[in-house]
Amino acid sequence: MNNVITFRKAALSVVVSTCLLGASGLTSAYAGENLGSLKMASDNNLCLDLASNKLDVTFNTCNKSDSQEWYYDFVGNSGTNFFLKNKEKGSTWCLRAFKTSLIKMDSCQGAGYTASRTWQHQTLLNGNSLLRNKYIGDMGKVGHYLFNDNGQLSLDRKNLDEAPEWQTDAPLPEKKLTKAVGNKKIALLITHFDGKKPANSDVIKQAVFGDKNDFTSLRQHVSLSSRGKLTLSGDTFSDINLGPMPNHCDTPRLRALIAKKAAEKGIDLSKYDSVFTEMSANPKCTNAAIAALPGNFILSNGQGHKYWMWTHEFGHNLGFGHIDALKSCSASKNLVQIDGSCTRTSSNATDKTDTMGGGGGHLYPANYQYLLGWLDSDSVPLAGKTAARYTLAPLWQQTNGLQALRIARKDGSYLVLEYRQPQPGYEDWSKEDSVVRGVTVRSYKVNDKQQVSNTIIDMTPGSQSVAKDTLDAQLMPGKSFYDELSGRIISVETVNARGAVVTVSSSKFKD
Ligand SMILES: [Zn+2]
Repeated sequence: MNNVITFRKAALSVVVSTCLLGASGLTSAYAGENLGSLKMASDNNLCLDLASNKLDVTFNTCNKSDSQEWYYDFVGNSGTNFFLKNKEKGSTWCLRAFKTSLIKMDSCQGAGYTASRTWQHQTLLNGNSLLRNKYIGDMGKVGHYLFNDNGQLSLDRKNLDEAPEWQTDAPLPEKKLTKAVGNKKIALLITHFDGKKPANSDVIKQAVFGDKNDFTSLRQHVSLSSRGKLTLSGDTFSDINLGPMPNHCDTPRLRALIAKKAAEKGIDLSKYDSVFTEMSANPKCTNAAIAALPGNFILSNGQGHKYWMWTHEFGHNLGFGHIDALKSCSASKNLVQIDGSCTRTSSNATDKTDTMGGGGGHLYPANYQYLLGWLDSDSVPLAGKTAARYTLAPLWQQTNGLQALRIARKDGSYLVLEYRQPQPGYEDWSKEDSVVRGVTVRSYKVNDKQQVSNTIIDMTPGSQSVAKDTLDAQLMPGKSFYDELSGRIISVETVNARGAVVTVSSSKFKD
């Protein structure tokens, strides 16, 4: 299954296409969390329960017993697929679909496909959720959980319209990206075509692995962005002749050619988590590079000397797509309304703080760090339902303090607020830059393919031409916005070198 997206990337002035591939091989899982009861929204006096044989499942009147208490555990490194477990049965038992109408508890590790024990969810605008079994879905059914008149659970409905809505006491998991921690081993292949001068392998090697900590390598960038949680290592293989320059830019054919030539050189690519290939610039390739989204390869079209090309493309490998922008929202003197009045730009969007939006080599935004397991929910908390004041610490500059704040929205997306201050290297902002004088506001939502596209929200509509209006997108001290999808008003009170003070309330705004 290939999913090819083509966008133009402002900073590199090139078109980059990306391909959907499988996940990386890093290990460890997110911890499970309690959901409380699982109820049909259509009859929320009935809770999913164990039947008397403690293997089948049925619906009974809600009574808060352990057999009606459910929790989830992500499957492996997945941030979207989860097991459903029952408190009475314990953590080694998982809810499993055997057929479209046979759903019962089974050993989590026993025979049969993991997919049959794998569940996914979608949050609806009304706050209810749809639940889907991956195995039944993979078999071509809609795969959603249905409760029919006989008390029988069934997953065989053809139409999503028939899927029931569910309610849980605690929210179903926020979808995350495939966790990326530990060490990733990269094979860097410096290749060229017949008659083309090979690239300087020392220069390419520096841009990827950079022995020097002088802010010019992907390795150091990732180490700082991830706070040391993801490290890159690997080997560089130079002088690989790929033969005549192809008269195409077909990703699978190029990858097959590279694999063949690497094997002829005795390079065992199976020993590596990822393969990065520098090729001579091919006029048939109109991209700076091609990268898996998410996945484990990058093909550079003669651009490997730029470390910020690698940080952008490696972002694709981690699951980051190109960004969107929300602009031209209606605004009064001190309040911007984030609602249907805004215009969404889904290509050519610019966010100076995001390398996926033409932000060059700046460190990855806070929500990417959270979604990859580099920051936890203590440092990137979810705003509570009651009005509160939060202090955002400058990103990367304090080990305690909030690194960002998330706000849940009715459509399953989240707002995220982050604050940056100048520091040497990748975050070398001018003191005058709006990035360090205000708070950056984005929305995001992870999809079932473990991809995320950030949306920068312009908090200063009309300050510049529409094309450039996100260059000063930050929410400044004394300013507020109302977000229709969360029902919240968010204000920045003050900013200084130590942090940004923001308030989140649901009370009516008084201008
Ligand atoms: Zn790209």
